[in-house]
Amino acid sequence: MKELIKQAADIITKSGLTIALTGAGISVESGIPDFRSPGGLWSIYDPSEYATISAFISTPEKVWEMAREMTKLIDAARPNSAHKGMADLEKMGYLHHIITQNVDNLHQEAGSSNVIEYHGNISTLTCLKCGQRFKRAELHEEFPPRCICSSRMILKPDVIFFGEAIPEDAMNRSFQLASHAEALMVVGTSAVVSPANTIPSIAKTNGAKVIEINKDRTHLTGTITDVFLNGDAGMIMTEILAEIRKIVG
Ligand code: NAD
Repeated sequence: MKELIKQAADIITKSGLTIALTGAGISVESGIPDFRSPGGLWSIYDPSEYATISAFISTPEKVWEMAREMTKLIDAARPNSAHKGMADLEKMGYLHHIITQNVDNLHQEAGSSNVIEYHGNISTLTCLKCGQRFKRAELHEEFPPRCICSSRMILKPDVIFFGEAIPEDAMNRSFQLASHAEALMVVGTSAVVSPANTIPSIAKTNGAKVIEINKDRTHLTGTITDVFLNGDAGMIMTEILAEIRKIVG
């Protein structure tokens, strides 16, 4: 592992443009379960029933049952050493952009500035009738939360449900960055959700070195990944940072 950490640190310090793609796994150590591991939210809430836009349109009360569980976990969560390590890397000039599939705001809370939210952010809600947007923290206790407009419509969390388009700006910027990156860190994602899962292959095809951090192997491991760092993201990010500090003094 020591040798692999050195290889990763070497790639990062030599790269002129380093980006990261993060997923639910990076926030597991903050207490937010991922979706695919056993015991995760999706073993309780079937995504085809709870996480599609058509489910939200037809049964928003039901979808809010899952969203309420998710928001409870997210509200209690704080950035862990993986989020903080990535924020430090940005401040040191070694990580330029994070593309996250997470909706938990933990990269921003850790201090990262250049974060592209691929699947939105659960901290705001929008009325599909009048378009007003609300901060979740500022809403009163009504459940499920409803708009103040005459429709009294149930508000939609600003996350991208299955069946919804990725925000155009996030998608264009991510693909542009992936096309020009010299290094890509893929952290805590199973890389099965499309189209975010095309980012590693776009980067690789355009010459980027791919560093993957995951506690399990994925379909990227052994194919697209150049350096696979097997373990918890917090511990590994801390080791990468220590190695980079050794290199750059
Ligand atoms: P996923 O659940 O499909 O995969 C998580 C990956 O992280 C797995 O490969 C797992 O082995 C790995 N992992 C788990 N714990 C880890 C740790 N401590 N260190 C390193 N790796 C770890 O997640 P995904 O690929 O992000 O796709 C799920 C979708 O669900 C995403 O689109 C995301 O928007 C959403 N989601 C978000 C959150 C969040 O915002 N925190 C949580 C759950 C799901």
